[in-house]
Amino acid sequence: MHHLYLHVPFCVRRCSYCDFSIAVRKRIPADDYLAAIRAEWESAGPIGPLETIHLGGGTPSLLPSDALAALLRYVVDHTSPPYAVEVTLEVNPEDVTPDAATAWCRAGVNRVSLGAQSFDDSVLRWMHRSHDAGRIGAAVETLRRAGIDNVSLDLIFALPRELGRDWSRDLDLALALEPAHLSLYGLTVEPRTPLARWVSRGATTATDDERYAEEYLLAHERLSGAGYAFYEVSNAARAGRRSRHNSAYWSGRAYLGLGPAAHSYDGRTRRWNLAAWEAYHRALAAGRSPVESEETLSDEQRELERLYLGLRTAAGVPSTILHQSTEVLRSMLVRGWVLVEGNTVRCTPEGWLRLDALVGALTGSVATS
Ligand code: SF4
Repeated sequence: MHHLYLHVPFCVRRCSYCDFSIAVRKRIPADDYLAAIRAEWESAGPIGPLETIHLGGGTPSLLPSDALAALLRYVVDHTSPPYAVEVTLEVNPEDVTPDAATAWCRAGVNRVSLGAQSFDDSVLRWMHRSHDAGRIGAAVETLRRAGIDNVSLDLIFALPRELGRDWSRDLDLALALEPAHLSLYGLTVEPRTPLARWVSRGATTATDDERYAEEYLLAHERLSGAGYAFYEVSNAARAGRRSRHNSAYWSGRAYLGLGPAAHSYDGRTRRWNLAAWEAYHRALAAGRSPVESEETLSDEQRELERLYLGLRTAAGVPSTILHQSTEVLRSMLVRGWVLVEGNTVRCTPEGWLRLDALVGALTGSVATS
């Protein structure tokens, strides 16, 4: 079974913290986008049965409903059965209308990842988001009425202190909507974003590590107490509602990515497309490959990746792949950063906060302090 990622790069404007390769458009060039995806699909060769399809972005919910339906129909018609069991659409709350939600459901979408981010209107304005807090609950309700009850909420934490964002209140409001799944993203200041410019001229501050840790641990405690299992460092789900698509990434399975900036992986080689929409579109229109570059992972790199991805998840990793690190492992146990159960090593929430340093120490490349 295969996993398909379709990248839809269009947004109506750029959020203050976002450094993704997006194309800001008032009018979505849906015909050009569909033609480009079809051309890329044809050059990719036969694609076997799909277990998951994930439409990410950008803002895939900006695609007109008929274009989205045509895209998914094309995928079904050109894939051997059985057809995907999980079809996720990333959606911004302001795009959810009864007609759109019904059309998405009819087109085969059975899971929505909703970009809520915060329930505080002043914070949403600071982020340059296009929705207000009231739209989030309305969107969840509309999706459910249309038949899509597998809804995940995205929330951003660790915002600058001076915003006065009440993270605890936002968690309460998110939980009150009883989503099937939640994804948490710690704010980072990426170069060449409006946020980076604000920080460089002193108009705002980057988040400190202490606040990041406090808010992450609070979310972990609150969500776990409400019946959500953290199955990955940033993702928590009710029983049976884990993202199958993202779980495939974390378990090192192969996937195919189509669209600008999309990545593909066959288990050994990773390749990625031209990131800018215009360059990607021009290449395919001229009959050229949209692939920008590729890398083949050595056995050592694959082992390191397996370790890193495994420790991101609640499943952890077999202790047998942690070479020469018994002493380091013991010190992490003492600090409460990992648990060892039988032959499995897994991170605690405290360990997940230090994931990069922890993996570095376990592989002998970095010392923890
Ligand atoms: S909607 Fe998403 S992809 Fe688009 S600018 Fe905002 S954060 Fe970036």
